[in-house]
Amino acid sequence: MSHRHYDTLIIGSGPGGEGAAMKLAKAGRRVAVVEAFDQVGGGCTHWGTIPSKALRQAIQLLADYRRNPLFQRTVRQIHVDYPQLLAAAGSVIRDQVRTKYRYYDRNRVDVIHGRARFVDARTIEVSEAGGRVDRFTADAFVIATGSRPYHPPDIDFSHPRVLDSDSVLRLDHTPGSLTIYGAGVIGCEYASVFCNLDVKVNLVNTRDRLLAFLDDEITDALGYYLRTQGTVIRHQEEYERVEPLDNGVVLHCRSGKKFKTDYLLWANGRAGNSAALGLAALGIGTNSRGQIEVDGSYRTTLPEIYAVGDVAGPPGLASASYDQGRFVGTLISEGESDWKLIEDFPSGIYTSPEISSIGRTERELTDQQVPYEVGRAMFKNIARAQITGHTVGMLKLLFHRESLEILGIHCFGEQASEIVHIGQAIMTQTGGANSLLYFAETTFNYPTMAEAYRVAALNGLNRIF
Ligand SMILES: Cc1cc2nc3c(=O)[nH]c(=O)nc-3n(C[C@H](O)[C@H](O)[C@H](O)COP(=O)(O)OP(=O)(O)OC[C@H]3O[C@@H](n4cnc5c(N)ncnc54)[C@H](O)[C@@H]3O)c2cc1C
Repeated sequence: MSHRHYDTLIIGSGPGGEGAAMKLAKAGRRVAVVEAFDQVGGGCTHWGTIPSKALRQAIQLLADYRRNPLFQRTVRQIHVDYPQLLAAAGSVIRDQVRTKYRYYDRNRVDVIHGRARFVDARTIEVSEAGGRVDRFTADAFVIATGSRPYHPPDIDFSHPRVLDSDSVLRLDHTPGSLTIYGAGVIGCEYASVFCNLDVKVNLVNTRDRLLAFLDDEITDALGYYLRTQGTVIRHQEEYERVEPLDNGVVLHCRSGKKFKTDYLLWANGRAGNSAALGLAALGIGTNSRGQIEVDGSYRTTLPEIYAVGDVAGPPGLASASYDQGRFVGTLISEGESDWKLIEDFPSGIYTSPEISSIGRTERELTDQQVPYEVGRAMFKNIARAQITGHTVGMLKLLFHRESLEILGIHCFGEQASEIVHIGQAIMTQTGGANSLLYFAETTFNYPTMAEAYRVAALNGLNRIF
């Protein structure tokens, strides 16, 4: 058993751990990252963001090709199955892993492969797959162990017909039909992926709307396009039991409805990876979903132990996890941080069409009695969208009708998650610089999708003057 001491030890090499490690290494601290998997990158790179987005990109390419009149004569010759698309995603994962090892190497961050567990508030034990156990000590720790799909105990996830967002990445053929239980971001994204592969998809939602945190007009559009692509959406359903069979699986709902398909993809909730860390003995609390209790600075009850990313609770985004890691890295190295984490972060949902939004929705502004107005640009009227053939979509700006301050940006359509950042940059300005007028009075490249901001701003101004 070896024993080494570090300034900070980070447990988990996803975006949360990587953000903390890089910040601390740049500050000259002696840092190591402990990773249970045999490659760095976290769930983000191997089972979450990267594979699902690479899959989606491959499928989008296929859908664009099928739709493009230039390729109509060859379209019948193209047969792409799910494993081929997964293989395309695999090459992105390899590139990401290589890049991340290089970052750790260049910044002299030690990577220790093994599963970490606290022995006391200053010591962890790391068990390697081969059985070797080492001890490491540090002055501070960052727990960034991420999350995994939540498994209700009454469902047999060892059955090959019952999948979750991890095991769906190991499916070795294109299924004929699929029921997705849970219509959150992951459920909607996979519904989009599979219906674009001509799989019959049932999307079973436990709520009364899709993605209720988004603007109603955007989720109405998502529902419409998912249906036109062949997805059957059922709202307000709750499972009673899951019956796996040799030739399929039946989802029995409390309402009496039954969905029999080749596979079930369970996409209803995630649980923090905290159980095996030995936290209870240290007095660090977790909730029923395994999420570690932290304060506003991501400190646990022990001041030298921090938790960031999915294991510290919502929002459960790679983007936010990375920033939380960097923020904590700053606190540990400098004792304080002169930058604050934004509370209003953008959401990107990689369905077809893509969705992105930031700020308040119409429902929120109405509830808060804010006098707002709406400016819209339909992609079908934007030259760049006509050129690329991606005419499905809309940019919607919500702004204060007196001050012209932008209050919310909601977009769906090709590149929505990029387009939203233009508005975000203006929306986060202070001292009167957050104004709809910026978009009405600024010259943008033409033709671009950014033009949608000018069109939406003029549309909005026309409503109030
Ligand atoms: C299907 C899917 C799609 C997603 N799409 C997006 C998206 O488009 N955009 C977005 O921003 N977010 C997305 N997310 C969420 C995003 O992946 C997570 O928010 C992000 O990965 C969290 O980062 P993290 O650093 O907290 O943990 P993770 O990335 O989960 O990494 C945690 C790491 O800790 C390791 N670990 C766990 N326990 C131990 C231990 N005891 N010892 C050592 N190592 C340990 C794990 O092996 C893992 O490598 C998606 C998630 C899923 C599941």
